Amino acid sequence: MNILVINCGSSSLKYQLINSDNESVLAKGLAERIGIDGSLLTHTPAGKDKVKLEVPMPDHKEAVRLVIEALLDAEHGVIGSLSEIGAVGHRVVHGGEKFNRAVVIDDSVIKDIEELSALAPLHNPANLIGIHACAENMPGVKQVAVFDTAFHQTMPEKAYMYGIPYEYYEKYKIRRYGFHGTSHDYVSARAAEILGKKREDLKIIVCHLGNGASVSAVKNGKCIDTSMGLTPLEGLIMGTRSGDLDPAILDFLCEKEGLSSSEMNTVLNKKSGVLGLSGGLSSDFRDLDDAAEKGNKLAKLALSAYCYRVAKYIGSYAIAMQGVDVIAFTAGIGENSAGVRADVCSYLGFLGAVVNEEANKVRGEEKVITEPESKVTVMVVPTNEELSIARQTLALL
Ligand code: AMP
Repeated sequence: MNILVINCGSSSLKYQLINSDNESVLAKGLAERIGIDGSLLTHTPAGKDKVKLEVPMPDHKEAVRLVIEALLDAEHGVIGSLSEIGAVGHRVVHGGEKFNRAVVIDDSVIKDIEELSALAPLHNPANLIGIHACAENMPGVKQVAVFDTAFHQTMPEKAYMYGIPYEYYEKYKIRRYGFHGTSHDYVSARAAEILGKKREDLKIIVCHLGNGASVSAVKNGKCIDTSMGLTPLEGLIMGTRSGDLDPAILDFLCEKEGLSSSEMNTVLNKKSGVLGLSGGLSSDFRDLDDAAEKGNKLAKLALSAYCYRVAKYIGSYAIAMQGVDVIAFTAGIGENSAGVRADVCSYLGFLGAVVNEEANKVRGEEKVITEPESKVTVMVVPTNEELSIARQTLALL
């Protein structure tokens, strides 16, 4: 069966058509600037050249229609008819406390996702637009919601509660939810599989280091803690997000700089992280690496502060799990930056980690990067959220 995986943003829509029998990707692509001038659909059929279509996409319904058209196209299409799409799996960002696993979408699920928009006002409404657009273009095709928060729902209360008045949890459900759950689940399971062990027997720390970044502690197959919180702003220093900081800084800066709370929010989400720390140089680690190599002090500072924060989280999760067997690096930076991995691992000697420098040069491939005698196995495990969504979708059908 072919499963269409959809990741819908407010003005974009990423897709992959996956053959669930052999887990191959038949086609993938991105619709950008939906509802904005200059809409662009980039469609990549497996084994063929990328096609770029500059076509107006006033809304997501039209974007989904064009994606289907591209999948069916005589030249760059990969299927003969719509009936070859057996189901659609959607990435949905916030499932709150309601969803601890993927679900088949029906009216009541849609209502729940709508209600959870209060917790993810930028993401859930966009995910819902994608769900409605698919329902209109593919009536009768089963749709499944796979939540970014679901894998983290096993966290104990002591890990997810903040030290603020309890009534805010009762009134507004303010707590840690965590994100990138599909990736943390996939990577921890895959790491165990590569090592020929059961995830249930391992203590695993997953470092998902992409533009957004988070760490999770997966003990005996269950997430017991993660670095992102109520929103994806908490935790690590990220590309443009601040991660953890003294909450009193917000009030101080709002007063000194005359910022409103929403302007402050923009500073913390879009102008901070390594971009902010490097004096606005870049949020991309390739640029920071180049600049640091040429002696740029702020680029060096951004990289070292970034790695130090990752290492501190690893340390605290090793304590939380009373040990760690495996540390897995994933996502754009985790999979590709040997420098970041080496710097993070330079703090891990006390855990008995012995990194093999040659092995650490790996890029985007599954590989153990520690020596056989290392007490903790450090590895690179490329994430595959789309495949995980397709698998969870299939499992529900
Ligand atoms: P993601 O959000 O997982 O797609 O990760 C995107 C980020 O990965 C980019 O912003 C870069 O900072 C980083 N990245 C991608 N390729 C490389 C590379 N070859 N070396 C270092 N960082 C990389």
